[in-house]
Amino acid sequence: DIGIDAASDWFEIAEPVLPPARPEGHKYDRGLVQLLAGEMPGAIALAAKAAARSGAGYVRLFTSQPIEGLPDAIVQTDQGSVQDERIGCLLVGPGMGDIPVLITLALTAPKPIVFDADAIRHVGDPERLVGHDVILTPHEGELKALFGDIEGSKADRALVAAQRCQNVVVYKGADTLVAAPDGRLGFAPPAPSALATAGTGDVLSGIIATLRARGMDAFEAACAGVWIHGRAAERAGDPLIADDLIAALPDLT
Ligand code: AMP
Ligand code: MG
Repeated sequence: DIGIDAASDWFEIAEPVLPPARPEGHKYDRGLVQLLAGEMPGAIALAAKAAARSGAGYVRLFTSQPIEGLPDAIVQTDQGSVQDERIGCLLVGPGMGDIPVLITLALTAPKPIVFDADAIRHVGDPERLVGHDVILTPHEGELKALFGDIEGSKADRALVAAQRCQNVVVYKGADTLVAAPDGRLGFAPPAPSALATAGTGDVLSGIIATLRARGMDAFEAACAGVWIHGRAAERAGDPLIADDLIAALPDLT
């Protein structure tokens, strides 16, 4: 035991209070999520739709190929620039594949970022993220790929990871934890095991990116996203597919 648990502030993640949309606001006020992806259309579509159904005003995709089945008016593949001031949050990982330059590109933007999936594996050195504004959403294997073997309980590992990259870490699994570099640690209320299904992680990262783009702070957006994702799973039933979670989002966000 490295003794970090005792120093940290533990709590169960509660129902979030989401930022209200300004009635007179335009689409950028509701949040522009910029997704940087490769050529895996299923994962890209899930993340983009989850972001749109979480209340983003606009989801913009940077991909090498057209993606079928997206709501055209909200999700657009005009690639835009990562330097666009209006971006609320960048999302890299779902459908990224083996294109590590997307990480470098995202880190040039002075904006919040969510790194999921392959993006986590390709960061290389956690210290590279220090000074950036990032939420990482690793499962067990992705956490190990970026941070190596960390001693201690799952809580210890989450907190050490957050300290090493100086950013928020959502350590996923049956017992998801959200750790902040200042020692805050949120544990998720139990979520249905039906979530152990392909694509549900892509949905989570889309939700969190939108909440960040809507103006929540990194730790709060991560906790809120985990809570909403778990409740969407309860509503979707068992068995569920990732699309069922997306369908449950409007009532929850
Ligand atoms: P990924 O590992 O990226 O596919 O994401 C899977 C999602 O399902 C994450 O949000 C996990 O926290 C969640 N999940 C995986 N296994 C379980 C489980 N046994 N019970 C509840 N949630 C789970
Ligand atoms: Mg995943």
